[in-house]
Amino acid sequence: MQTVSLLQTNPFDLFETFFGPSMAGFPGMDQAGFRTTRRSTVTKGEDIRYDMTLEFSAAIFGSEKEFELSHLEVCEACTGTGAKIGSKNRICSTCGGRGQVMRTEQTPFGMFSQVSVCPNCGGVGEVISEYCRKCSGEGRIRVKRDIKVKIPPGVSKGSILRVAGEGDAGPKGGPPGDLFVYLDVEEIPEIQRDGINLLSTVSISYLDAILGAAVQVKTVEGDTELQIPPGTQPGDVLVLAKKGAPKLNRPSIRGDHLFTIKVTIPKRISAKERDVLEELAFLTRNPSSRPQSRPKVQQATGSTQSENDSVTEDTNEEGDQNDLWNKLKGFAGSVANGALNWLKGNL
Ligand SMILES: [Zn+2]
Ligand SMILES: [Zn+2]
Repeated sequence: MQTVSLLQTNPFDLFETFFGPSMAGFPGMDQAGFRTTRRSTVTKGEDIRYDMTLEFSAAIFGSEKEFELSHLEVCEACTGTGAKIGSKNRICSTCGGRGQVMRTEQTPFGMFSQVSVCPNCGGVGEVISEYCRKCSGEGRIRVKRDIKVKIPPGVSKGSILRVAGEGDAGPKGGPPGDLFVYLDVEEIPEIQRDGINLLSTVSISYLDAILGAAVQVKTVEGDTELQIPPGTQPGDVLVLAKKGAPKLNRPSIRGDHLFTIKVTIPKRISAKERDVLEELAFLTRNPSSRPQSRPKVQQATGSTQSENDSVTEDTNEEGDQNDLWNKLKGFAGSVANGALNWLKGNL
């Protein structure tokens, strides 16, 4: 009766009509055949996404992380059926137990019928008469569980870890989906990541650039010394080999840590520094006045020479050179001993 009224109000609407006993003889559509095909189709549970932020070093060296995950698990009370244990299912009244319904469409060219899965029982032909009280008939219950994941070394922002079977349980006992852990990595100001290589910028004074030095730098393995060779240019890249990140899934391959050198030029200098630099500039413009011999050995003893500045000012050429050396040494006092030694050995 209802179908007729529907047809009259809107002949183009889709509607459902019940699969009557007279339809049972549809070719290739016997009831048993339907049931077996429907029942073998199980629905997999949903995949779950979990976002996790790792510390910079955890992404490089790997880590083990534990977190609480809320997901659906199979209800133990009913083993996922949703029916109360001991209760009997009843025949679906919508499809009469066939699991199929016939849809009939009225078109300007006539009536077209199509067989489809019963929306009430999902094709099973039976419905639960008494629901499981623990899961309210869902067959699944939401559970909070501690999940432990192993983060392999070398992951980076955007890496996704798959934890098989830790997604939601499938409906009606279907297999569970997977858990996907989306990784983000905290940034640190000192070190940038470029694939398996790490990048840093090191600022050194112009004196250290000229004379060479050893400077403290931060690596993922802690603070270490980076040797600045004499004559280092601004923009030069110094490499600490194998101090980068390991290659994901091939931890034996490890990147490098690259240090780009920035040379700082002082905006202000003292009058004394200015004197020395002007003297140095004069020396550079007049190469003929470069020292022909090494500075005297006494400078290596470390005794202070600055008091002699005024005394030696107007002595012979070699004395001038020694004086310049002393001044250079005096105001490069922050330079590491190694660089000084180099300078002494090379002048
Ligand atoms: Zn249950
Ligand atoms: Zn049904």
